[in-house]
This record gives sequence, structure tokens and C-alpha cells, in this order.
Amino acid sequence: MSLAFRTPDACPALVLNADFRPLSYFPLSLWSWQDALKAVFLDRVDVVAQYDTRVHSPKFEMRLPSVVSLRSYVNHARAPAFTRFNVFLRDSFACQYCGVTARESLTFDHVVPRSQGGRTTWENIVAACSACNIKKGGRTPREAKMFPAREPERPTMFELNERGRAFPPHYLHESWQDFLYWDCELEP
Ligand SMILES: [Zn+2]
Repeated sequence: MSLAFRTPDACPALVLNADFRPLSYFPLSLWSWQDALKAVFLDRVDVVAQYDTRVHSPKFEMRLPSVVSLRSYVNHARAPAFTRFNVFLRDSFACQYCGVTARESLTFDHVVPRSQGGRTTWENIVAACSACNIKKGGRTPREAKMFPAREPERPTMFELNERGRAFPPHYLHESWQDFLYWDCELEP
């Protein structure tokens, strides 16, 4: 997906910690372009990557940062939020039934289907490709003979950061273009 010709308001900056790990996954380590520019001018961050979109004032013109890294390390020990993005990140953007990593067709599956009392929780939601999701339908893993690769559980922030580290910043950044969709808290 091209990053060209975006309006400034569609140019959030992905914020990486001083060690180049994403600062956190909730909020999604995203700053508005205004906050990102302010941090650049205050020397709080280094610009890692930029959009093609430029902003102008009488005194300067610059491309908006798409990825910035903090100059000093920030420690976060919060529990990760239960969002689509974090569920997919926990599962490394891979279908837990067949292992395919097609981000575009990734959905989430209730391991125990809702029709059988399954809830929308860390322990009952896994990433699944749409083909597997359809195949499994409203059946339990035992009924469908389809078992998730990993027993789903609530990840720690550390685990999510480790998963995130496996992806280059631009990979995550592209997926964050849909951040309004990704960042919705899932309804229990
Ligand atoms: Zn699958």
C-alpha cells in the first residue's frame, strides 16, 4: 500500500522505544502528526521513516515522520488490551489452525463457538484464516477435529513486544494504517 498523498491527519507516527521496540501496543504506539513533530523539535525522538506527505510553514517544509524512536527508554508494565491487533499479534498474524499468514484474510475464531457458550476472551479467541473459520463453523475443536496450534491465553506485554520484534517496523506500520479498526476493544 502506498503512503503517498495522504492528508496530514492520516499520518500518525508509530512510536518505538529507545531500543526500537514499539513503545506499547495499547494505545497503539501511535501519535498524531502534531505530537510527532513536536517531539522531533524537542529532540525527544529520532525519525526512523517518513511519509511522502509534507507540511509547510513560512519557515520550513518537512515530510511527516511515519516511524519515530524515543531517545530515552520508557518502561511499560501494563496488561495488554484485548483488541484485534493484540490477538493477532499474540498469534503472530498466523491462522492457528493451518498456520497460513495471510494478513488480509485473517479473522478471529471463537474456539468454543458462541452458540455453545464460548465467550469473547483471550482464552477463547484465536486468529484464523477465513477458510478455516468457515470450515470449523459452529463446532468445537473436538467436533471439527481442528485444534489451535497454541492454547490461547492472555499474553503479557513482554510477550507481545517479543512477537512485535519479529516483524520489521514497516510491516507493523502498514498494518497500522487500519488502526481505527484494529484498535477496537473486542466486546466480551
Ligand atoms: Zn487456516
